Amino acid sequence: MTHVVCEPCIGTKDHACVGVCPVECFYEDEKMLYIHPDECIDCGACVDVCPVTAIFPADEVPAQWQAFTQENADVFKRPTPPPKAAPKAE
Ligand code: SF4
Ligand code: SF4
Repeated sequence: MTHVVCEPCIGTKDHACVGVCPVECFYEDEKMLYIHPDECIDCGACVDVCPVTAIFPADEVPAQWQAFTQENADVFKRPTPPPKAAPKAE
């Protein structure tokens, strides 16, 4: 499984999640942060530190944000995937 970043990250992007992830699997573009589904080890550390509750285990993503599960996977199939997120917001 994996964890998924959902809609509340858009416009927030404070990077609180990045510093607690033991496998550094957060990536970022201009819109939001994403969790690489093949790298996440489902430790859950990021969930509680997100100030806007944007992160969920894949099987607990709220109905209105289901599309974000696919989006978090699809961004890594782009010709130019998003780079790793820095520990602190710029
Ligand atoms: S659940 Fe753990 S491994 Fe997965 S993104 Fe969050 S902190 Fe990283
Ligand atoms: S802590 Fe939440 S809002 Fe902040 S960057 Fe991570 S997912 Fe986005």
